[in-house]
Amino acid sequence: MIKDIYTQKRTVFSLEVFPPKNDTDILSVYSALDGLKALNPDFISITYGAGGSTSKRTMDIAAYVQKQCHINALAHLTCVSLDEILLGKFMEELKANQITNVLALRGDRPRDMTDGDFHSRPYKYASELVSIIRQNYGFCVGGACYPEVHPESRDQESDLYFLKAKIEAGTDFLLTQLFFDNSKFFSFYEKLRHAGISVPVSAGVMPITSINQIKTIVDLSGAYIPSRLKELFEKYRNDPEDFKKAGLEYAIEQIHELLHHGVQGIHLYTLNKVDTSTEIFKNL
Ligand code: FAD
Repeated sequence: MIKDIYTQKRTVFSLEVFPPKNDTDILSVYSALDGLKALNPDFISITYGAGGSTSKRTMDIAAYVQKQCHINALAHLTCVSLDEILLGKFMEELKANQITNVLALRGDRPRDMTDGDFHSRPYKYASELVSIIRQNYGFCVGGACYPEVHPESRDQESDLYFLKAKIEAGTDFLLTQLFFDNSKFFSFYEKLRHAGISVPVSAGVMPITSINQIKTIVDLSGAYIPSRLKELFEKYRNDPEDFKKAGLEYAIEQIHELLHHGVQGIHLYTLNKVDTSTEIFKNL
């Protein structure tokens, strides 16, 4: 189980991949996984599309990671669009595929979901999913956390209050939302410990390698862009190759600093890219 790896290693290295939008593209994800496997990560997490849209592909990819790549798979699962029957089915399939790790999430509301459907979901928050998965299935359960505060939270204090409840419900470890400014992570980490949250935390890092990526990433994560990174974006705006190089260098430096501070884990958002992930691992 993933929680045991954190007790055995000084730093846990993990990767995240996402399922394709349709079945025909799944082979390209398998081929990316064959490349990522060579990086020998401690685990690979597989995202779950908004509202369960990728449920089957999430399962297929998780099974590939676990059984073909022989790497611990961490399957993401979201409350949105989930009910008791779907949860039971998903968990039984995970077991059948020898997977025992789940990242329990609330999930974001899909664009086409009505207010009524969103507000009447059987499981409201990730903590409910955590406690059911722990009690009924005995899986190892991870959770998400937000160094720059979850966008719907009133403030950091209330975010930490509910995060603590999620830990008390049985969360074994945390993966952070991506961030570009390490000082945000360091100060968040101190607050976690001060709040009595002592589970291992992996820092989420995403290399920015193209100008088109920036807006989506910032819109989705709300991450603060430090001025040094902004300057790089401006300097290489018209040169995709140099832009990619600079983005990778920034991510490598960011990880070096995190490692220097003794972070318990690095979770790399790979965007299914083997070349950039390999370049980063090679330089650590
Ligand atoms: P929760 O922990 O439930 O928190 C959500 C909000 O509600 C927070 O503001 C929290 O403070 C508040 N809250 C919690 N409990 C209560 C309560 N009892 N009463 C009132 N307020 C409460 N999304 C996907 O759709 N698929 C994925 O695969 C996916 N993977 C992710 C992986 C990582 C590492 C991260 C950081 C995020 C991921 N997300 C994914 C996005 C995530 O689903 C969203 O950020 C979502 O809005 C919150 O999910 P959560 O599990 O953190 O929610």
